Amino acid sequence: MESDCLFCKIASGEINTQFLMETDDLVAFKDINPLAPVHVLFVPKRHIRSVNDLTEDDGPVLSKLIFAAKEMARQMGISATGYRLFFNVEKGGGQEVFHLHMHMIGGWE
Ligand code: AMP
Repeated sequence: MESDCLFCKIASGEINTQFLMETDDLVAFKDINPLAPVHVLFVPKRHIRSVNDLTEDDGPVLSKLIFAAKEMARQMGISATGYRLFFNVEKGGGQEVFHLHMHMIGGWE
């Protein structure tokens, strides 16, 4: 855990946040500033700064993020209408919180 990392504090429960999903490896919660009717963030509990910092050993946690999003889409009823999964990478890629997270947006009519 990084002491001044917002998503470490959220994932550890230090900042109270309503989780839509929690497993041993990740948490999912609503984005505070949604870009779509559904906007969920999937965040590994272990601190990884960005996609640039991923190693081969992180393959399992990445796959868990994607399978969690697939399950969340099913639960939210947006599997059939579709959704977008993406990572912003570093400042030039639009990343503002430097703890790896995957966005899921969808729910459009
Ligand atoms: P990124 O630009 O990829 O780093 O995305 C960071 C996202 O975190 C943005 O979409 C923010 O709206 C969102 N965000 C920032 N603080 C919070 C918070 N306390 N709870 C939920 N989402 C947050």
